[in-house]
Amino acid sequence: MNLAKWVEHAARAHPDVAATGWGKAIHRDYADMGARAARLAAGLRDNGPRGAGLAPGARVALLARNHPAYVEAMVAIWHAGLAVVPINNKLHRDEVAYILDAARVSHVLVTPDLAETVSGGRVAIDLEGAAYEALIADHDPMPVADVAPDDPAWLFYTSGTTGRPKGAILSHRNLMAMTAAYLADIAPIAPGDACLHAAPMSHGSGLYIVPHLAHAGTNVVPESGGFSPPEIVETLTAWPGTAMFAAPTMVNRLVRWEGEITETALANLKCIIYGGAPMYAEDAAAALGRLGPRLAQLYGQGESPMTITCLRREEIADRDHPDWRARLGSAGRPYFNTEVRVVDDDGRDVPTGESGEIVCRGNSVMLGYLDDPDATARTLRDGWLHTGDIGAFDASGFLILKDRSKDLIISGGTNIYPREVEEVLLTHPAVSECSVIGRPDPEWGEIVIAYIVGSATADTLDALCLDRMARFKRPKHYVHVDELPKSNYGKILKTELRALDTAREDAARGDVTRGTGTMEPVATKEMGT
Ligand code: AMP
Repeated sequence: MNLAKWVEHAARAHPDVAATGWGKAIHRDYADMGARAARLAAGLRDNGPRGAGLAPGARVALLARNHPAYVEAMVAIWHAGLAVVPINNKLHRDEVAYILDAARVSHVLVTPDLAETVSGGRVAIDLEGAAYEALIADHDPMPVADVAPDDPAWLFYTSGTTGRPKGAILSHRNLMAMTAAYLADIAPIAPGDACLHAAPMSHGSGLYIVPHLAHAGTNVVPESGGFSPPEIVETLTAWPGTAMFAAPTMVNRLVRWEGEITETALANLKCIIYGGAPMYAEDAAAALGRLGPRLAQLYGQGESPMTITCLRREEIADRDHPDWRARLGSAGRPYFNTEVRVVDDDGRDVPTGESGEIVCRGNSVMLGYLDDPDATARTLRDGWLHTGDIGAFDASGFLILKDRSKDLIISGGTNIYPREVEEVLLTHPAVSECSVIGRPDPEWGEIVIAYIVGSATADTLDALCLDRMARFKRPKHYVHVDELPKSNYGKILKTELRALDTAREDAARGDVTRGTGTMEPVATKEMGT
């Protein structure tokens, strides 16, 4: 079944219910969005002079800041039997070009601010522009295209330790399994219940568009398109039954915000689902204190979108349970439709309490990576997705996430692969060696630190990074050293480097409190974001 069928159903059963909202206002109701999506779908497929001429199965990219038309465009793409490629709007132009090439995309739907980012003779259609409206106006609605359950619906680009992003192919079946998991284990959705998209719609927040389409929910974009506590509180007053995906950094900001979270806002807030990065138990407890029993946690990855384990609302709220604290520090239990195991290097289950790699199996697990059979074979083995995350089950089946075996930094809920940053730094002639690590940070979870051997200054390296990759990936500090810790084989020992970094930080903090000033000055640069 095509995911777009849900919108067709909603347009009949709940024509007047808001399908999308912008700020506190209704953007389109289901009758309107359903009709427009059916026309836009026809326009995307039409191979006459007025259409985009896309063949069934073709991929259409969405490169946009958060915008309510994101939802309509995505539905139209599925309606037409095409697959959507949502792209992180903060990526550098060259990084975007790489994804568009890899996914063989000819048409990109954009918000006006991003039109210039589309290169290579591709067609960029502005979601607010005349060409987009003409595609809708010039075409009669087409029926929802027939698709097979395994037909691709969403190409989810995730960067990798190889330094190049890989496209996880998510099918209609995958997103339906994710939807079932959400409805069963996170929260029910009634027609008109809202999903507030304050996090990027190309990623986790956008995935939650889908369950809200299934039950005629309302996908709402804050006016600013982003996250700011006062705006969230104000927007909440207009939308009952609101759910919101938030990275831990966002939850912490909301909880520490000194303004008032009004009773109306709280009454309308059904659920904040946090995940994508570790959340300290302390912070989860503080969030519970301020927001009440409205928090759930998800653990997932692009390869099994939003669906591996979850910590349910009632489990987070159950302060009287003897294991409550420990549970807050866990990633919860498997979703009802997902099998999760913790295995050793030979793929055998490890005993309860012992660490191993987390693997999972279920209908939400991707079909594979686009055009990358080697990476697919490494990641999907005997039907199990190897997550690259290390964890352990406790006696009651709650999963504790320990570490990542993949070299990955998660800063503010966003993944940054050190290898990508290292490759850029190493192009500087005055960098002979470098190693990029994550340093624990109370606000961001982790921040990016580059250890450099060579004379290139922090300023020149910062300029190089800005020129070559997305701003958010660039190091916050550069530390110049004479050599990096290495194994006998010459491999840089990141674990040792992280320990050294912690020791340096501790010493520096000690210096500040004692005021002895014994630490060597290091070449660091505060970037801010
Ligand atoms: P992505 O594929 O970009 O969604 O990133 C997925 C990775 O984020 C996972 O493999 C984990 O390492 C991490 N992650 C996701 N959810 C959680 C969570 N609830 N707690 C800790 N780390 C998480």
